[in-house]
Order: sequence, then structure tokens, then C-alpha cells
Amino acid sequence: MNEYQMGCNQSNILVVDDLPDNVDLLYRILRQKGFNVTTAHSGEEALSTILTCLPDLILVDIGMPYMDGYEVCHILKANPRTKDIPIIFVTAFEQILNKVKAFEMGGVDYITKPFETAEVLARVELHLSLRRLQQQLEAQNELLRREVRDRMAIEAALQAANQELQRLAHQDGLTQIANRRCFDLCLNQEWRRLMREVQPLSLILCDVDFFKAYNDTYGHQAGDNCLRRIASAIATAVKRPSDVVARYGGEEFVLILPNTPASGALYVAQEIQEAVRALELVHAGSQISPYITLSMGVTAVIPKANLSPMSLIAAADRALYRAKLAGRDRISLEEVGFRSDHPHVLGDHPKV
Ligand code: GH3
Ligand code: MG
Ligand code: MG
Repeated sequence: MNEYQMGCNQSNILVVDDLPDNVDLLYRILRQKGFNVTTAHSGEEALSTILTCLPDLILVDIGMPYMDGYEVCHILKANPRTKDIPIIFVTAFEQILNKVKAFEMGGVDYITKPFETAEVLARVELHLSLRRLQQQLEAQNELLRREVRDRMAIEAALQAANQELQRLAHQDGLTQIANRRCFDLCLNQEWRRLMREVQPLSLILCDVDFFKAYNDTYGHQAGDNCLRRIASAIATAVKRPSDVVARYGGEEFVLILPNTPASGALYVAQEIQEAVRALELVHAGSQISPYITLSMGVTAVIPKANLSPMSLIAAADRALYRAKLAGRDRISLEEVGFRSDHPHVLGDHPKV
């Protein structure tokens, strides 16, 4: 194998022919135009040359002993590294050229001997520029693919960040349950939905008893921990995915129970009472129990146009106030839209 090189910016062309005269002639024609030319005198030599240095174009003689041009072409087309190198078949004038086979094997063109310098150069330059265009297209495609991938990654990250932002915007920082803003949104949404469905909506407003005394006794940090534990106890007491447990503010929690009548809400309130009792959070400052207790205002309504979510909250607040007044650690009910002069209170103490 002989290797001749001119400038490194030039295209590399491999000439493969078993006849030295043909190799020399093609070499001279191509070198005059400034191409880098590598030569090989057999199919085997061509294949080993190609493996060390990929040419931009190959001129290969069809009629060679041992391994003919078709076979060289077939091997190169089967290799992903070499399959895109344009191959021009060279054939002697007297050889019967099977043009269909040449193209079927993956050749891009053919040249017949004796060579016409202008024709050789024209075909070589045409296929080199086609190859360059193809490479440019591939590079552009790759860039585009990368850009699309990058954009998709950015979009996914943005979406995740947005979701996180949404979650944070709706979550109470201390207890990790829903915050007041989330409560307001959910209540309005459920109000409208249940008005359309003519279904009941219940609220439970919970307030920790003597919590100021808890802070005074154990410190604000212990108070925070206590609120966290109460929040998760309340959250475990609700079972439906549509139920919402939120921190209403300070040491107050609120539950939205859609499609739930007063009886169901009272049941949930009792479950909450039990869950908080089971925590046995020692509260030396409480005037009614050795442990943390809750007072709860429960209310239920079938939403109507002449009522508002505010009226439901106000009723829950009134019920809570009555539970406090009646001695704390108890549940008081006031149904909206029913006769509200018969509120009742449940607890360990006599019902009010
Ligand atoms: P009541 O039984 O009448 O509800 O008495 P209370 O002491 O619970 O009610 P009050 O409204 O007088 O006090 C509520 C206390 O809750 C005041 C405040 O120290 C405490 N509190 C409110 N928010 C937080 C909080 O985020 N962390 C802590 N540690 N304490 C809080
Ligand atoms: Mg309070
Ligand atoms: Mg309180």
C-alpha cells in the first residue's frame, strides 16, 4: 500500500485496483486536482487500509482476483462505520458491466476504462460534494435532535419545578398538610360542585385546647412538634381521597368532607378525637385533661345559591365556640339551612 498526502483540508480518496498502471493513472489524475490519495492493490489491502483511515470516497475496480469490487463494497456497506462512504465502481471497457448489480450493491456510480480525466474528476467531485451535503444534513439533524432533547429536558425540569411550586403554594410549611389558601380554593370548588349535584358538604373546625398554656409550659418548639403530630393524626382519621385536611391558622385545623352529611362528619370528628387522644401528648397546662385535646365545630349543608361557603365556616366557628363554652374536648354540631337553634354538642361531658 502506498500513501500519498497533500494538504490535510483535502478529501481523502482510496483507489483500489489490482493493475498498477490503473492505480497510477487514477492517482495522477486525482493528485493533480489536489486530492489526498491512498492506494490499495487488492480488496483485502483496501479493507485493512480503510480500518485505519476512513476515506471520503472509494474508487474500486470490479474485476480483481480473490476479492472483487462487489465483495469489498458488500463488506463496507455492512459496517456502520463505513456504510456511508460513497463507492464508485471502476470497470474495464471490455468487461460487461452489470449496472443494476453495481447500484444494488450500494455503489453510487461507475467509471469505465479507459479513463477520461474530465469524467473521472466530474464524477468524483459530484459524489464528494453529495457526501459533504449529506454529512452537513446529518450534523444539522444531530444538532436538531440534541436541541429537541435539551428542550424536552428543560421542559420536564420546568414542569417539575412548577409542580413543586404548586405543592409549596398549597402546603403548610409547619405541618405539611394543606394550607389556608388551598382550603379556600377547595371549599369554593366543592361548594359549586355539590350545589350542582345537590349533595351535602361538611366542615369540621378543630381547635387545640389550652394551647397557649402548652407553649408556655413546653416552649414554642415543642408546641410546633405537637401541632405536627396533631396534623398527622387528623390526616389519618380521614379515608376518602376527596377529603381535605388543612391548617386553618395557628392551632386550628379544618376538614372539608364532600358528599358527607352531618352524621358522617360527626363520625369523622369522633375518629379525630380518638386519634388525638391516642397520641397521649402530655399537657400539664390543660385545665381539663392530662393530655392534648381538641374542641371541634362540625357543620353540614347542601350548598344553595342563597348561601355561601362563608356561611358554612361561620356555622362551624359558632359550633366550635359552643364546644369551648361547654367545657372543651368535645364536638358540637350546627347544620346550615336547618333549624340552627338546636345545635348539639358531643363529648365526655354532658351534651349541650
Ligand atoms: P383555647 O382552649 O380557648 O383554644 O385556648 P388556647 O390557648 O388554645 O387559645 P388561644 O387562642 O388563647 O391561643 C392559641 C395559641 O396557639 C397561641 C399561640 O401561642 C399558639 N400557636 C398558634 N400558632 C402556633 C404555631 O404555629 N406554633 C406554636 N408553637 N404555637 C402556636
Ligand atoms: Mg384558636
Ligand atoms: Mg386553642
